Amino acid sequence: MKRILVSGGGGFLGSHLCDRLLKEGNEVLCVDNFFTGNRKNIHHLLDNKNFELLRHDITHPLFVEVDEIYNLACPASPVHYQFDPVQTTKTSVIGAMNMLGLAKRLKIKVLQASTSEIYGDPEVHPQPESYKGSVNTLGPRACYDEGKRCAETLFFDYHRQHKVAIKVMRIFNTYGPRMHPNDGRVVSNFIVQALKGQDITMYGDGMQTRSFCYVDDNIEGMYRLMNSRDGFTGPVNIGNPGEFTMLDLAQQIIELTNSKSKMIFMPLPQDDPMQRKPVIDLAKKELDWEPTVNLREGLVKTISYFESVI
Ligand code: NAD
Ligand code: UDP
Ligand code: UDP
Repeated sequence: MKRILVSGGGGFLGSHLCDRLLKEGNEVLCVDNFFTGNRKNIHHLLDNKNFELLRHDITHPLFVEVDEIYNLACPASPVHYQFDPVQTTKTSVIGAMNMLGLAKRLKIKVLQASTSEIYGDPEVHPQPESYKGSVNTLGPRACYDEGKRCAETLFFDYHRQHKVAIKVMRIFNTYGPRMHPNDGRVVSNFIVQALKGQDITMYGDGMQTRSFCYVDDNIEGMYRLMNSRDGFTGPVNIGNPGEFTMLDLAQQIIELTNSKSKMIFMPLPQDDPMQRKPVIDLAKKELDWEPTVNLREGLVKTISYFESVI
């Protein structure tokens, strides 16, 4: 039995990861300041004797004894990470440094939840891990994109300089149950709007694309990466290569919810990437991983979750 620290364990992905790690027979120390996380996400775990919750902000040092670290703490939706951009960069950079300092002292493995946002508004399509990205350092998304880029740099420098064992995962848009209904991400926005019969808020002309990965596939990839062969550091893309326009997405959600909602067109936010799709050859080769849930199946499960909570 391992004792595993999950930072951001009260969030969308973190809470699913806690479930998985407990199911595998581990002890979990969930560390979260509940900036965007929700206690409801982990409420069902509070009575589990192998689960412990610590309210803590990872921008401050943390001295605990654990065997492995998954570093997921960071607001992930544009609305949330732009709300307090300085804190977003601090969480990504100082938070990563504290988790790396902890891993260095304990001589343990640490996994970083990086993001496809480090590719920015990509000029290369689809995006392999070798693509270096196109990020506007000055725009409203930079606090997140550049924070996550700097975190990757810290991970590789702690690896080279201090021999810390690292695993870096570049996560593409992931959706599913326990997404925050008001966090502003497109899947949750469209589903909530469709279920409530409200207008569907399409930003721009809706021709921009994203590739959406269902949460269970993401967690499987994350778990396999942490347990991959020694010396394999990544970065590795984890996402579903199915690529959809936002118009496609809205149409599928309207149909699956039987909604009478109409689309309204609003301005495209600054620096909104026009296209995004992962190359997942590396994950296939190193982790024997590929997604198993297609968009339609994943949307059905996500819609039934939102029906029960809104
Ligand atoms: P989320 O907002 O639901 O979860 C993030 C969690 O981190 C929340 O519980 C929040 O309270 C916590 N947190 C934030 N700042 C903290 C701090 N300073 N100290 C302690 N806890 C803090 O987001 P998510 O979708 O679960 O994302 C989890 C991770 O995966 C993030 O690092 C995110 O950047 C990354 N990621 C997610 C996606 C996605 O599509 N969901 C895509 C790319 C990368
Ligand atoms: N750190 C931590 N927990 C630990 C060990 C280190 O939070 O168990 C923090 C430490 O306070 C520092 C950061 O991690 O701010 C980086 O640690 P490192 O040892 O690399 O740096 P140093 O302490 O030498 O500045
Ligand atoms: N989007 C939209 N309507 C919304 C929310 C988002 O059209 O109500 C668009 C957004 O402009 C972007 C895409 O959907 O092009 C994905 O947005 P999200 O915030 O989910 O993720 P990210 O931009 O970080 O990939």
